[in-house]
Amino acid sequence: MKPMDYVLMAGILVAAGLILIYNLVNFGSPVTETAQVVITVDGVVYGSYPLNEDNTITIGQPSDDQHNTIQILNQRVDMVTADCRDQVCVKTRAITKANQSIVCLPHRVVVEIDNNGLLEESEVDDISR
Ligand SMILES: [Zn+2]
Repeated sequence: MKPMDYVLMAGILVAAGLILIYNLVNFGSPVTETAQVVITVDGVVYGSYPLNEDNTITIGQPSDDQHNTIQILNQRVDMVTADCRDQVCVKTRAITKANQSIVCLPHRVVVEIDNNGLLEESEVDDISR
């Protein structure tokens, strides 16, 4: 093999490794009984909702130019409608595992399943005491 072939092979291996890591991260981990659906808007927590309670959350006011509607149904979280220009969040398939997320870049909305949603709150309390 020529030296360039080795470089090419190494590149393919690195790319395959990165895809594997990405898939593992995106695969998420099993949810717990207390898993929370955490919604952040522009880096600020908008609200957190129990994953095991069916719910529909609409972010944004009718007067605003933007809105996102998130549905929690049978422990699946889906972005059902949004009026963002790219519609990537709506096309993202429903998330069901911890650490998976749906991102709406134009509206800076992140929907994430967090196993430790409740734990983190109590940890903050401990620090502030
Ligand atoms: Zn969007």
